[in-house]
Amino acid sequence: METAVTNVKHTECDEGAGTWNPELLRAMDWKLFEDLCVEVLVAAGYEAESTGAGPDRCVDIRMKTPGAEEADVAVQCKRQKTPVAVKQVREFFGAITTQGYTNGLFITTGGFRKRVLDEFGENGGLRLVTGEQFLEGVADLGTTEAGKLFDFVVRDHADNWRTPTCPACNIKMVVRERKKGKNLGSKFWGCANFGAPQNCRKTFSAKQFPIPEEES
Ligand SMILES: [Zn+2]
Repeated sequence: METAVTNVKHTECDEGAGTWNPELLRAMDWKLFEDLCVEVLVAAGYEAESTGAGPDRCVDIRMKTPGAEEADVAVQCKRQKTPVAVKQVREFFGAITTQGYTNGLFITTGGFRKRVLDEFGENGGLRLVTGEQFLEGVADLGTTEAGKLFDFVVRDHADNWRTPTCPACNIKMVVRERKKGKNLGSKFWGCANFGAPQNCRKTFSAKQFPIPEEES
């Protein structure tokens, strides 16, 4: 049995906040990172929109380069701590072609494995963006725009910018505690719809999305 311990709240003064930095990128909800990518692309002058719910659908954002008749660039956003593996990029590259896009943009909060760079580094149709390059892109938009984007993440979502979203239900998850087994007492993220009629069993580990100290 699993029970909800608490609805976690975060404050904007938490470590990692205050200004744009790699830690902040790596700490945020995967869904919020995706929303942030849309905001950044729009601020950079592109038409961009999310394709809908779910983290494993390969194309997260469709984007139109200025002058194009329709969306021509597929974007995948991966908020993950480990470097992106070649399998992930191959899958995305396959989706670009099968879904009729001409170019791809793979944005991650960290980096890419060497194998990815060996295989796709010189590929003209696919651009790989590391977390560091993403932050440079945000800085290039200017102080005012970068500040607005920071506010979009940390102030507009002050109480939950690090709380992961359930990929199946598209709602914020809650901290739960294991009530049996060898990991008794350990905490993890579970869907708020667990036990509800839809009984969603989607979880994330504390390793994937750090669980903050409980509020007293
Ligand atoms: Zn769910």
